Amino acid sequence: MDYTLIGNAYNNTVRIYVSNTKNLVQKAQELHVTYPTSSAALGRLLTAGVMMGLMYKNNEKITLRFKCDGPIKMLLVEANGSGEVRGTLGNPKLYFKYSNGKKKGKLNVSKALGNGFFHLTKDLLSNGIYTSSSKIVSGEIAEDITYYFSQSEQTNSSVALGVLVNPDLSIAESGGFIIQLMPGATNYTVELLETILNKFTSITEFYSSGNSPEELFDLLSNNTGNIIKKIPVKYNCHCSKMGFTKSLKSLGKKTISEILLEDGGAEIICHFCNKKYMFNSLDLESMLND
Ligand code: ZN
Repeated sequence: MDYTLIGNAYNNTVRIYVSNTKNLVQKAQELHVTYPTSSAALGRLLTAGVMMGLMYKNNEKITLRFKCDGPIKMLLVEANGSGEVRGTLGNPKLYFKYSNGKKKGKLNVSKALGNGFFHLTKDLLSNGIYTSSSKIVSGEIAEDITYYFSQSEQTNSSVALGVLVNPDLSIAESGGFIIQLMPGATNYTVELLETILNKFTSITEFYSSGNSPEELFDLLSNNTGNIIKKIPVKYNCHCSKMGFTKSLKSLGKKTISEILLEDGGAEIICHFCNKKYMFNSLDLESMLND
């Protein structure tokens, strides 16, 4: 089961989110038939998204989007305050590894993304819709989100995300954490956290050695923390014929009558879950008569 732990540590001056996301990233891998580097890119953003979604209320929604000049072109993830996430990407068939340096042999997500921007849109229902953006600084996603937090939300944080892919393309391990400093965090706490993070190798290594998210939480909190919530998280698409009727209507009556005339109907495939929706001529006619 995938879940996110949310807790406080260091005398309530640090907030910690820890998640394992192997099953939900596996679902994304199967839906989009992704190759390892594409799996890692989408899986990391899904993992960040599901934790960040939980920073909001149940029905509020966030959209995380990378628009970039690398071969992946774009990554899009939507998450809500109930632990549900879904995502899509511009190119599922990427497989690059670092050929030298410290990361030799690891999946090269940075090359897939290239340069561009990260955008976060918050849909806070009656309180409005807000988008803020920041530049891609590394293309490895975790660093880019850390940078986003410091630039756009003035929050000091540390984000780690990891996806390990099996030779048969299935997901071996996936997870992440977000550590956020809150007012009152002392220099001593910051130094202690830096020491812990410097010693920490990787999320996927930690999980594949048989450790649990709870153990990761204890490690990051130096055993000073308390877990406030444990929330199941999953890949879930809420698409519906009604939702796509709305999108079709938004094209305008002129376009709908053109579709009706030329094709006699429309087939829409949801790019988050591949579900097909058929709109026959009667459906389109009733939109025109609305
Ligand atoms: Zn869908």
